[in-house]
Amino acid sequence: MNMFWNLGAIGRPFNEADRSASSLPSQPSDTTNVRILESEVERLTMVCEAMWMLLKDKLGVDDQELMARIAELDLSDGKADGRKDTDGPRNCPGCNRPNSKRHDFCIYCGQLIRTTPFD
Ligand SMILES: [Zn+2]
Repeated sequence: MNMFWNLGAIGRPFNEADRSASSLPSQPSDTTNVRILESEVERLTMVCEAMWMLLKDKLGVDDQELMARIAELDLSDGKADGRKDTDGPRNCPGCNRPNSKRHDFCIYCGQLIRTTPFD
């Protein structure tokens, strides 16, 4: 067994799936891409659950508070659709003009637009 650790895999060693993924042809099929994405979603879901369990244990917050915060975040784009719209332009906190998501700084006034780790 290869004992190199995949830093993105939260402490699990490379396994057969990892090896086969690294030897994929340069143009993986759509099916392969979907499998890779499903695997990443499952891993990220597990990481979120682990972080949530830590927060519950350390801070004493509960599931109802989390559900309320999720609903609040969902509605922050004006739609209760189970997702946060990240496709549209962001308004500058300095001049309130819309800027493309590609820019970290406002193209009009130079203000930092990316103000949270999730922007
Ligand atoms: Zn601006």
